[in-house]
Amino acid sequence: MYRKTRVIYVGDIPVGGGNPITVQTMTKTDTRDVKATCEQIKDIVGAGCDIVRCAVPDMDASEKIKDIVDFSPIPVIADIHFDYRIAIKCADNGVACLRINPGNIGSKKRVKEVVKACKHNGIPIRIGVNSGSLERDILEKYGNTPKAMVESAKRHIGFLEEFGFYDIKVSLKSSDVKKTVEACRMFAKQFDYPQHIGVTEAGTYSIGSVKSIIGIGALLLDGIGDTIRVSLTDNPVREVTLGRSILKALNLLPDSPKFVSCPTCGRIQFDIKRFAEIIEKEIEDIKKPITVAVMGCAVNGPGEAREADYAICGGKGYAAIYKRGKLIKKVDEKSLVKEFLLMIKEDDD
Ligand code: SF4
Repeated sequence: MYRKTRVIYVGDIPVGGGNPITVQTMTKTDTRDVKATCEQIKDIVGAGCDIVRCAVPDMDASEKIKDIVDFSPIPVIADIHFDYRIAIKCADNGVACLRINPGNIGSKKRVKEVVKACKHNGIPIRIGVNSGSLERDILEKYGNTPKAMVESAKRHIGFLEEFGFYDIKVSLKSSDVKKTVEACRMFAKQFDYPQHIGVTEAGTYSIGSVKSIIGIGALLLDGIGDTIRVSLTDNPVREVTLGRSILKALNLLPDSPKFVSCPTCGRIQFDIKRFAEIIEKEIEDIKKPITVAVMGCAVNGPGEAREADYAICGGKGYAAIYKRGKLIKKVDEKSLVKEFLLMIKEDDD
């Protein structure tokens, strides 16, 4: 059962409350370089990104963010550390959300000013707790633990709630997978604010992917997580692609086909790898919750075909095509892809 959180809006995207889980990433260009940043946004949107975050380190960047917001087809979140004036400027310059920790802004007066700007512009705030930058007194009391991360989040939330601000999203991240998962679970038991989840500083592509899949996957299986971000020392397009694959693997991408293919073994007499890759790619854009199976032989093939909406079962130089468990016909390898895809795309049952 997916955990029901409050709903906030990041631009026109509802986050929380059982709405579809969205994929985020950050641009890795200098935000002051509007052209390069917009180019990167174009690339990540092409990969299926729903929401983008840009670091805003100074006033110059907070001016440039306006042009980036104007260009971006998806909501832009401004990532700000400490400086409340930058936060206010970004809110007034059209960003869809601020990522800032109110406990780090300074005086309550400054927090109040930021809250006022967010209320005025109708935008939420994401609190981002990172186990690498916890408050000293919290660390002394709880050590660097999941409990400490939740206590830190609680404190930041308190600063906003004090001024009647509840449009909040929270992330609790660590480079340690287990700590991240435990902190997010603990938070979910105590608060109903939507959660942005991810394993931070996960590393380069190979290990970072594994850490992200385990951490994000474990939480999503618990019904926790309203937006996700894969953090890699790599191109943000790869972060988005992997984020979408995680959602897909857990059947959390609405109206998205599910693809099954066998690992092949010594019984194979058919170039399944080639067919599986082509078919998986070709069905990517079909907006139907169908299951497609590409199986290597008649040992496990027919069984899997019964579970799938459409299936291929390889033979020697030919393949059998199934539709909802029923054998439709046998076709030779040459016309297989064409016939199979035609059947899927033209089927309106
Ligand atoms: S479906 Fe056939 S080829 Fe594929 S793994 Fe199973 S037994 Fe091997």
